Formats: sequence, structure tokens, C-alpha cells
Amino acid sequence: MVYGVSERVNNMDASGIRKMFEMASEIRDPINLSIGQPDFDAPSELKEKAIEAIRENRNSYTPTSGILPLREAVVDKLKAQNGVDATVDNILITGAVSGALSLVLPALLDEGDEVIIFDPYFVGYKQLVLLYGGKPVFVEKNKDFTINFDSLRNAITNKTKVILINSPENPTGYVYSKGEIEELAGIARENELYVVSDEIYEDFVYNGGHFSIASIYDKTVLVNGFSKSYAVTGWRVGYVMGPREVIDAAAKIQQFSFVCAPTPFQYGCLAAFDCDVGEHVKEYRKRRDMIYEGLKDNFEINQCFGAFYFYVKYPYDGTRFVQDCLDRGLLIVPGGSFSERNSHFRLSFVNSEEKLLEAVEILNGLV
Ligand code: PLP
Repeated sequence: MVYGVSERVNNMDASGIRKMFEMASEIRDPINLSIGQPDFDAPSELKEKAIEAIRENRNSYTPTSGILPLREAVVDKLKAQNGVDATVDNILITGAVSGALSLVLPALLDEGDEVIIFDPYFVGYKQLVLLYGGKPVFVEKNKDFTINFDSLRNAITNKTKVILINSPENPTGYVYSKGEIEELAGIARENELYVVSDEIYEDFVYNGGHFSIASIYDKTVLVNGFSKSYAVTGWRVGYVMGPREVIDAAAKIQQFSFVCAPTPFQYGCLAAFDCDVGEHVKEYRKRRDMIYEGLKDNFEINQCFGAFYFYVKYPYDGTRFVQDCLDRGLLIVPGGSFSERNSHFRLSFVNSEEKLLEAVEILNGLV
């Protein structure tokens, strides 16, 4: 008899962000720049719809793929906002984007299949690829966070199955240009690869717009959700749009795992696409400018074009720098959580202007 948890799970790292949360709980009144969720209230239209669904006793399972009106609403949104042609058969409603990735990756991967991940990356990607038997292959981004296409081409082997992208990007705040997306799609097409495109921050773009690779490449599996745009991270509702074979395979897994996304919150999200979150985005743009202006003279920092993060180079030894911040009550996330190298730190500007100004002062005081 062999005891203990699986080697695959043993090989996963606990999230560095969670560790930061734990540390935060030990500091009195910290300035917490490790936060990855919006600080505005969920729109009342969504809340009312969810409450109404509960009152009307819509509390049981939905079909595995999700309620039809929400799938239809996603089809309409993808057409109008992203120029993506899909039918409801291409849509699966999931337990937010984490749930979507937890279905899409096992649906696509066989043992040893390679998944290209741009470094720095969102914490979950590496761990989920490992969990589902894939091999993460990291392609380092350029200093300005643009894609290094030579490195990308060199990383492709006959085992490569998927390129995983995220734009707007966590942790860098970078937004892929249309030209980059087109070049990437060309490479994926030449090599017959799937592209899994995580577009969870699409509404948080501060310069230019968001361009979805799904509008030009038909082997795209697009994952997105309501968590960030509508400040409902606890509702756990998202969706996948992709080729029929991927959607059917992902639905098969959902049937035996999540079963369906939370029913009342699927109804709540029916109100989402009519809500305008533009005011919040304007507010975040202001806070972004404050951080950039405050730090640009003393730190190696790229402007943030989307999401709500800056990914900043450590001015000196990373471990010491993070500890120095902690000693001053400032929480940031060490880049080692997002990268194979611990060269940068991530700071989120989801916080009050007052706290952000305090943070800027602390950070500048350290250099
Ligand atoms: N993808 C990215 C890039 C994220 O930053 C996050 C959350 O921070 C997620 C996915 C997970 O989102 P959800 O709450 O919808 O599962």
C-alpha cells in the first residue's frame, strides 16, 4: 500500500499570492498592493437578478453547458464586442475562468504534451498544466513585455499542443498589440496549435483597445468571465468559447466534476453585458497614472496598459526588498510567483488614492 498524496500535487507550488495574504493577516493595517480583485461593488442589476433567481427557486442544477439565455448572451457579446462568430454549441458556462482552465487543459492535454506559456505568467497556468500531465515550456518576454517571436518559434517542438496567452496580462499590465496577435496566430496556424486565450481583463484597457485572437484564428479556445469586470469574484461564473470538439470534451469533464456553474449566479450574470463599467475603468486609469508618475524616476517600470498591475524590477536583492516592504507595512507580490526568475515584483493599484500615495512614498524611500 502506498500512502500520501499524488506526486503531481506534491509538485505543485502553493500560490505565492496566498502566502502574501497570510502574511497580510499578521500585519496591522497593511498597505495591501497584493490584491487581484476590483474594489467597487457589484452592479445592483446583477445582484437583483441573482436574488430574484433564488426567490423564484431556481436553485437546482442547470444543464452542464449552462443556462441557454446566458450562452446566447455570450454569443451576442462575442459578436458585438470581439468580432467573434460563435453559436451556443461553441459555448460552455463554467465555474469562472479558473474553472474554465480546469476543464480546457485536461480536455486538450495528453501526458507530456507541451504548453507554451509566456514568462511572466499568471500563477495558475504552470500549476494547472503540471496537474493535468502537460509540460509547461516557458518563453521569456522582452523587457518591454512584448512577445519575443524568435524565442517563441524556437520553443515549438513536435510535442507542442497549445500556446497559452493572457491579454491584458497579469502580472505585467501589458496588452498585446493587434500586430502581435496576428503574428502569433500565423505561427499557431503554421504549426496547427491550439491557442488558449485568457481574456479576463478585457474591460480594463487604458490605451487603445482589446483585440481577441478568436476573431482571426479558429483554433482559439477563449476563456473569460464575470469575476473582474463586474466585481463578482465570489460568484464563480465564466465561459469558454471554442471549437466544438474542445467544448464537448470540456463539457464531458464538467459533467463529472463541477456539474454546472452556480445556478442563481448564472441568472445574475444575465444582466452583465448591459452594464457599463466604464466609470470604474476611468478611476483605475487615474490610479495607474499616479503609480507610474510616482515610481518612474526611481524604478525600472513599464507603463501598465491593462488589468490593474505593474510588474516592476527589484532595485536590489528581491528577498531583502520584499522584506523591507513588509517591515514598512507594505505588501507586494514577489515575481517568483509569476516567473521562473525572481527579478521583479507585482503591485496592484486596486486601493485608495491615499494608500497608493503612501505606498509610492515607501517604495521611493527604499531606493
Ligand atoms: N486568469 C487570470 C489572468 C487571472 O488574473 C485570474 C485571477 O486573478 C484568473 C484567471 C481567475 O479568475 P476567476 O476568478 O474568474 O477564476
